[in-house]
Amino acid sequence: MRFIQVRFLGTGDAFGHGGRLQTCILVQTTTCRFLIDFGASAMISLYRFGIDPNTIDMIVLTHLHGDHFGGLPFFILDAQLNSKRTDPLVIAGPAGTRKRLTSAMELMFPGSSKVKQRFDIEVYELQTEKNWLFCGVTVTPHTVQHPSGDPSFALRIECNGKTIAYTGDTEWTEGLLPAASGVDLLIAEAYFYEKPIKYHLNYQTLIAHVGRLKPKRLIITHMGQDMLDRLEQLDVESAYDGMIVEI
Ligand SMILES: [Zn+2]
Ligand SMILES: [Zn+2]
Repeated sequence: MRFIQVRFLGTGDAFGHGGRLQTCILVQTTTCRFLIDFGASAMISLYRFGIDPNTIDMIVLTHLHGDHFGGLPFFILDAQLNSKRTDPLVIAGPAGTRKRLTSAMELMFPGSSKVKQRFDIEVYELQTEKNWLFCGVTVTPHTVQHPSGDPSFALRIECNGKTIAYTGDTEWTEGLLPAASGVDLLIAEAYFYEKPIKYHLNYQTLIAHVGRLKPKRLIITHMGQDMLDRLEQLDVESAYDGMIVEI
């Protein structure tokens, strides 16, 4: 049996509630070691949990908000100046990723986007419902309801004969059905407990629909303070920074 290891390196909301780090999920398969999302605090996550950045084959992004991709300038600068990366870095995200990454680098470290790295940066801009394959991992993005300046995706990811889905940030949308139906592991946003927040999922809405998705396992993440205050009373698994699961 070939397991996939999923390691939650950041499980908080955008604002650091509960002292949690922003979204970053490490997936290890037999052929690939990759990250889903790379929030502004994600370099802290890597070093806190002893992950060598040079071991990362690719980074897949759900959308281009700072708490999901804002750590990339730090990754690229660290790779150049500190970790001395030589292998190509593959980044896959929505249309607009290349431009937004350049803008983010220039905003935070002027001139940094023009530096020639010792390693190649390969950016792939994914299209909704089109399969994209890299190092034995098939990523299928599905458009969700979450304005971020460019398309926002939920991701369905197949590797080692297993399927993972991550909702990214979104209010409930029927687009989550093809993204997440029947997966071995569904990682779902649960920002608030029951309060409706436009463009985000709350726990009660997720639970109301999860019977339609029928995941084999559900783990919630991206929790704000309202959720963190109620962790004891939940009926589902909730992620924490450093949590490791095998599927
Ligand atoms: Zn977010
Ligand atoms: Zn967002």
